Amino acid sequence: MDFLPIFLDIKNRNCLVVGGGEVAARKIALLLRAGARITIVSPQLCNELHEQVHAQLQQDRITYRAEAFHDHHLQDAVLVIAATSDSIVNRKVSEAAGRLHIPVNVVDNPGLCSFIMPAIVDRTPILIAVSSGGASPVLARLLRARLETLIPAAYGRLAAYAAEFRERVKLRFSRPEKRRRFWESVLQGPFAEMVFAGKDQAAKAYLERLLVDEAEGAEGAAQGAVSVKEQGEVYLVGAGPGDPELLTFRAMRLMQQADVVVYDRLVSPEILDMVRRDAARIYAGKERSKHVMPQESINELLVRLAKEGKRVLRLKGGDPFIFGRGGEEIETLSSQGISFQVVPGITAASGAASYAGIPLTHRDYAQSCVFVTGHLKDGSVDLDWPMLARPKQTIVVYMGLLGLPVLCRQLMAHGLPPAMPAAIVQQGTTHKQRVLIGSLETLPDLTVSANLVPPTLIIVGEVVKLHQRLAWFEPESDLHAGERDQDSAHS
Ligand code: SAH
Repeated sequence: MDFLPIFLDIKNRNCLVVGGGEVAARKIALLLRAGARITIVSPQLCNELHEQVHAQLQQDRITYRAEAFHDHHLQDAVLVIAATSDSIVNRKVSEAAGRLHIPVNVVDNPGLCSFIMPAIVDRTPILIAVSSGGASPVLARLLRARLETLIPAAYGRLAAYAAEFRERVKLRFSRPEKRRRFWESVLQGPFAEMVFAGKDQAAKAYLERLLVDEAEGAEGAAQGAVSVKEQGEVYLVGAGPGDPELLTFRAMRLMQQADVVVYDRLVSPEILDMVRRDAARIYAGKERSKHVMPQESINELLVRLAKEGKRVLRLKGGDPFIFGRGGEEIETLSSQGISFQVVPGITAASGAASYAGIPLTHRDYAQSCVFVTGHLKDGSVDLDWPMLARPKQTIVVYMGLLGLPVLCRQLMAHGLPPAMPAAIVQQGTTHKQRVLIGSLETLPDLTVSANLVPPTLIIVGEVVKLHQRLAWFEPESDLHAGERDQDSAHS
């Protein structure tokens, strides 16, 4: 080990920062977060620091000396940072601090440092410091970024609650072994999930209840805190439209801790592959006209699995509450008293539109945007046509491929011009994405000859014509060049 990692208490202690540029500003911000008092020594200050100094001066946290560095500035300092662009000054600071045995850091010069500053993940009171010992600060930062995505933002609050309940837990369980097991299951179970989901009141009530339940005979009972785990729960998670990079941090985390995943056809294989390896996988289907599992059976399945004590990940394409029947599933769960949480996902409209370069609203072309389902009922599409056929509005149609001819006909019959731009996006956001651009008049025919593969999304409105200018993502698909040209041809 090249360095000893320690965490320093600098609350209300004097720290000296030599330098007044942007680098110094970043270090100062960090020192202030740790509660330090700061003296800045620098003939000049950059704009950012100038403002910061003035904001902090009133609160007595910062003293500014508009002068060159002198050894006497080190008086009372418990820590020094040199962040000037002048290597002679930096060396002078380092040597003076060395003589007085004050820890010193010279930015970007490990040779002059007696301590180095790590990249940090801040979930106060939990702190993670990552250092490469100066070998590769970029690598340390990349690692930090990975940790940031893995560790829920609410970890700090979780730790704070643990501190709040610590004494009471100690009183309840006198044996350290029992206590440890209690905390282990609490910090990984529904209590933690409630805190992460922002349901703090419910979390605290749950912990209170648990303390009472567990305490009743728990000291004698062999199973101790194990009963905490006997409660299953359901995570209703939106997996986004296909590209795994569009998953939320929370979705990713819950995917790692599920015991069983119940997933739809729309969940891409790449995403399914990211679910915890040893989680059981149950396909709940839903293909057009051949539902693998009726909705009622899915609802019952979720209830049964949760009652068995499983952490059930109900993974759905896009957003669970947009044409996803998520509402029905949680209705059943809540009527059965099963705890659940819903994690929103990027819905197909947002995903497919962004990747196709079609802004759903635009100051000049569309002030409103409606999402409708074009699902056929008895061979026709039952929609509020006058409401849809309004000017300056974008219409996004989910499940609309079969009904496309009816849709276009009806919109024209209700006043939209035949030349109104319209697009259909196949497998949006995936590497198989294809975009066909036409108009209300031409799109149905274009689609027939294109052999599209579901899922597909239809977008109607003036904004569609921006596609050519704004598309930034035109993935290489299995199309031949000729087909691609035809795909992009406007009517
Ligand atoms: N809950 C989902 C929608 C489920 S309905 C969401 O929020 O996105 C299923 C319909 O969504 C499909 O018929 C199709 O119209 C649309 N869809 C879902 N993913 C899509 C994708 N990657 N590309 C295009 N359309 C998609």
